[in-house]
Amino acid sequence: MLILFDKLYSMCYTSDMEAEVIKCPRCNSKSGQWKNGFTKADSQRYRCGKCKCTYTPERKKWGYTEEEKKQALRLLTDGTTGRAVGRAMSMSKANAYRWAKEFAKKGLL
Ligand SMILES: [Zn+2]
Repeated sequence: MLILFDKLYSMCYTSDMEAEVIKCPRCNSKSGQWKNGFTKADSQRYRCGKCKCTYTPERKKWGYTEEEKKQALRLLTDGTTGRAVGRAMSMSKANAYRWAKEFAKKGLL
Protein backbone atom coordinates (compact mmCIF):
# COMPACT_ATOMS: atom_id res chain seq x y z
CA MET A 1 0.00 0.00 0.00
CA LEU A 2 2.67 2.48 0.99
CA ILE A 3 4.89 1.52 -1.92
CA LEU A 4 2.00 2.05 -4.31
CA PHE A 5 1.17 5.27 -2.56
CA ASP A 6 4.73 6.54 -2.90
CA LYS A 7 4.69 5.72 -6.58
CA LEU A 8 1.43 7.55 -7.20
CA TYR A 9 2.56 10.38 -5.02
CA SER A 10 5.72 10.92 -7.05
CA MET A 11 3.61 10.92 -10.22
CA CYS A 12 1.51 13.75 -8.81
CA TYR A 13 4.54 15.49 -7.53
CA THR A 14 6.20 15.44 -10.96
CA SER A 15 3.24 16.92 -12.82
CA ASP A 16 2.95 19.47 -10.07
CA MET A 17 6.55 20.57 -10.50
CA GLU A 18 6.21 21.06 -14.23
CA ALA A 19 3.62 23.77 -13.73
CA GLU A 20 5.98 25.81 -11.58
CA VAL A 21 8.31 28.47 -12.86
CA ILE A 22 11.72 27.76 -11.44
CA LYS A 23 13.83 30.77 -10.64
CA CYS A 24 17.38 30.88 -9.31
CA PRO A 25 17.32 32.43 -5.80
CA ARG A 26 20.79 33.87 -6.29
CA CYS A 27 20.76 35.48 -9.73
CA ASN A 28 16.99 35.33 -10.40
CA SER A 29 17.54 33.73 -13.76
CA LYS A 30 14.56 31.76 -15.03
CA SER A 31 16.36 30.08 -17.88
CA GLY A 32 18.93 27.34 -17.74
CA GLN A 33 17.57 25.84 -14.52
CA TRP A 34 18.33 22.14 -14.47
CA LYS A 35 17.05 19.39 -12.22
CA ASN A 36 19.88 18.21 -10.04
CA GLY A 37 18.73 15.20 -8.08
CA PHE A 38 16.91 15.20 -4.78
CA THR A 39 17.59 16.29 -1.23
CA LYS A 40 17.40 13.92 1.72
CA ALA A 41 13.86 15.15 2.29
CA ASP A 42 12.99 14.10 -1.27
CA SER A 43 12.65 17.64 -2.59
CA GLN A 44 13.73 18.36 -6.12
CA ARG A 45 17.05 20.15 -6.29
CA TYR A 46 17.95 22.50 -9.10
CA ARG A 47 21.15 23.81 -10.55
CA CYS A 48 21.44 27.24 -12.11
CA GLY A 49 23.25 27.25 -15.44
CA LYS A 50 24.16 30.90 -15.01
CA CYS A 51 25.75 31.22 -11.57
CA LYS A 52 26.25 27.44 -11.09
CA CYS A 53 24.63 27.41 -7.66
CA THR A 54 22.39 24.54 -6.56
CA TYR A 55 19.20 25.17 -4.64
CA THR A 56 15.87 23.70 -3.63
CA PRO A 57 12.94 25.86 -4.67
CA GLU A 58 10.45 26.51 -1.93
CA ARG A 59 7.20 24.80 -2.65
CA LYS A 60 4.58 27.38 -1.88
CA LYS A 61 1.49 25.62 -3.15
CA TRP A 62 0.58 24.09 0.21
CA GLY A 63 3.10 25.78 2.43
CA TYR A 64 4.30 22.47 3.83
CA THR A 65 7.32 20.38 3.03
CA GLU A 66 7.06 17.21 1.03
CA GLU A 67 7.90 15.19 4.10
CA GLU A 68 5.19 16.81 6.19
CA LYS A 69 2.58 16.28 3.53
CA LYS A 70 3.62 12.70 2.94
CA GLN A 71 3.58 11.98 6.65
CA ALA A 72 0.13 13.49 7.09
CA LEU A 73 -1.28 11.48 4.22
CA ARG A 74 0.39 8.36 5.50
CA LEU A 75 -1.27 8.84 8.86
CA LEU A 76 -4.61 9.32 7.14
CA THR A 77 -4.20 6.21 5.02
CA ASP A 78 -3.35 4.33 8.20
CA GLY A 79 -6.77 5.24 9.55
CA THR A 80 -5.80 8.19 11.75
CA THR A 81 -8.47 10.87 11.86
CA GLY A 82 -7.82 14.28 10.35
CA ARG A 83 -8.00 15.90 13.75
CA ALA A 84 -5.39 13.55 15.19
CA VAL A 85 -3.17 14.11 12.18
CA GLY A 86 -3.49 17.85 12.64
CA ARG A 87 -2.50 17.52 16.27
CA ALA A 88 0.41 15.21 15.52
CA MET A 89 1.73 17.47 12.77
CA SER A 90 0.84 20.74 14.56
CA MET A 91 -1.17 22.05 11.68
CA SER A 92 -4.79 22.60 10.76
CA LYS A 93 -6.80 19.44 10.28
CA ALA A 94 -8.26 21.17 7.24
CA ASN A 95 -4.90 20.70 5.53
CA ALA A 96 -4.90 16.99 6.10
CA TYR A 97 -8.48 16.71 4.87
CA ARG A 98 -7.76 18.87 1.83
CA TRP A 99 -4.78 16.78 0.83
CA ALA A 100 -6.73 13.60 1.38
CA LYS A 101 -9.57 14.97 -0.74
CA GLU A 102 -7.22 15.87 -3.54
CA PHE A 103 -5.71 12.41 -3.50
CA ALA A 104 -9.10 10.75 -3.21
CA LYS A 105 -10.35 12.71 -6.21
CA LYS A 106 -7.50 11.31 -8.22
CA GLY A 107 -8.37 7.87 -6.92
CA LEU A 108 -5.12 7.55 -5.01
CA LEU A 109 -6.47 6.86 -1.56
ZN1 LIG B 1 21.78 31.52 -10.58
